[in-house]
Amino acid sequence: MVESLRLPNGGWNEERLQMFDSSTAANIHRIPITNWLLEDKLVWLLWNSGLHERLKFSMWKLANYGILTAHNLIARNIRVVEASCVHGCNCLKYANHLFFHCQVAKAIWFAMAWSIKWDAFTDFSLKEKLYLLGHPTRVFPVHSNDGAHFFLFGSIILHQLWQIRNSLRFENQHFSLENTMALLNFRVKEALTLFQRKTEIISTLRHGACMGSLKTPPQFIKINTDATIRNDNSLVGIVARSHEGEILKMWVVPFHSNIPDLAETFGILQGLVKAKQEGQTNIWCVSDTRRIILRLHNDDLQGTHWMAEGIIQDILIEKNTFQEVIFHWSPRESNIIADFVCN
Ligand SMILES: [Zn+2]
Repeated sequence: MVESLRLPNGGWNEERLQMFDSSTAANIHRIPITNWLLEDKLVWLLWNSGLHERLKFSMWKLANYGILTAHNLIARNIRVVEASCVHGCNCLKYANHLFFHCQVAKAIWFAMAWSIKWDAFTDFSLKEKLYLLGHPTRVFPVHSNDGAHFFLFGSIILHQLWQIRNSLRFENQHFSLENTMALLNFRVKEALTLFQRKTEIISTLRHGACMGSLKTPPQFIKINTDATIRNDNSLVGIVARSHEGEILKMWVVPFHSNIPDLAETFGILQGLVKAKQEGQTNIWCVSDTRRIILRLHNDDLQGTHWMAEGIIQDILIEKNTFQEVIFHWSPRESNIIADFVCN
């Protein structure tokens, strides 16, 4: 839809914008996007949102029409017995209708603190609407400091609308605006507390990680790496353990360099690669080379061999493909198994 308001040169098609009232048209003009690579932008938005994984996933499914509304089923040639909106509107259950324009959706969006109305955006696609949820300040009365809070609230509303639909359809439970708003406020508070706690834990871990003093947190697996130099080459030992210390797997990988920093960083990179192959998402990555761990924690530090910098960049890129990676320095004694494996 937004594409259809654009001219091929990227400017707005003023003639088409006339179908909006003047304040909406002014808002559309202010949408700060020069090209609508929504797919990438949405992935980025969700990835950085701090939402719970389950919520991220349902937003992503919604953006890709993965939710089984009647309209989607019909589009896939699946026969649907009852196809109109579950809330009694005479409308096919387009996701766009169910989540934004249905009477139930309208009531909830309007009852939230920001009193949002989607009427001016009827023709926007689902993806475009999700994008607006992530960038609301120029379009809705949302202060720029509240953007993240608004996105969280919006995501929870969408999730809740789907649950309301299911409760009515499968359990004959009727919608109540009052109960829904109480539940939504509770869910937002809960999400904010969880998010805050997660941020605190991670910052404590990051801080402690440089000190070499912490135990592996639950839900993490521990990857110890160590390198041993042999003449012109080195051997890298990698040990994966559960957070309780049970050994899960070990690997030894040869590396064609005898520069210690290069071999050690290569070991950490290999540790992440192996952990990913094993399907792990939270990694507690331990090495006994303190300057490398410090370097991985801080972009400005330059204590490592210059040749290791390329691999350090690879590690930092690889790190972003996990939910959480914490680099941890540990003195040689406690890294003894990795040391032993490569010897
Ligand atoms: Zn409806």
